[in-house]
Amino acid sequence: MYVEVAEGVHRLTQGVTNFYLIEQSGKFTLIDAGTPGDWDFFCRSLASHGELPDLEAVLLTHAHPDHTGIAEKARTDAGAQVWIHSADADAARTGKTGKNDGSIASYLLRAEFYRTLFSLARRGATKMIPVKEVSSFADGETIDVPGRPRAGHAPGHTPGSAVLLLEQRRVLFTGDVIATRNPLTGRAGPQIMPSGLNEDTGEALRSLDLLRGMNAGVLLPGHGDPWTQGAAEAVSQAKAAGRS
Ligand SMILES: [Zn+2]
Repeated sequence: MYVEVAEGVHRLTQGVTNFYLIEQSGKFTLIDAGTPGDWDFFCRSLASHGELPDLEAVLLTHAHPDHTGIAEKARTDAGAQVWIHSADADAARTGKTGKNDGSIASYLLRAEFYRTLFSLARRGATKMIPVKEVSSFADGETIDVPGRPRAGHAPGHTPGSAVLLLEQRRVLFTGDVIATRNPLTGRAGPQIMPSGLNEDTGEALRSLDLLRGMNAGVLLPGHGDPWTQGAAEAVSQAKAAGRS
């Protein structure tokens, strides 16, 4: 799927995870990098914007293999600079992620668990491909790449999980800070990620407060469909949903 979901913002997905392409004056920034198996799909999508579009940067919301997928290839083959919050930079460079606080065993009776697992395995997303050179951003930083997103540090899912705000367009990329579809249970609606995939679920719930005041009408998550009822309502519903 390659569709425009906000002004100059396209959603890319071949199943479980979303990533997004921002256009600004003929230059491009990728928000997250899908799965390793998404490279051909990405190239076809980018080519629809004309010959040799310029991919300047890849901004990663966090270091997990279903979000860092083609980042290293974009760096080496397309010359894009890859960015991530400083607290996830080592994980991106080494391909080693931290330990999660919940057990996967509690999801084994869910059909969605297998749907997600097989879809990610088919696209090589069970292991992270290290990104050899990454630049890091900090909380509150406006990153000087096409679209000029502003970063918000929202740890919990991973230590360096971040959201990225396009202030003028009122679009917030939430990564795995808020999902609108639970990849292990299939439940729809704004929510944090399931405990089996979080390093610190309590912290993930607390980090939601950081998003409440963000001036965003549209939220674009790593998992699930776009949310168009604003950040505050998404946070309220995610808090009410709680842990899974
Ligand atoms: Zn994740």
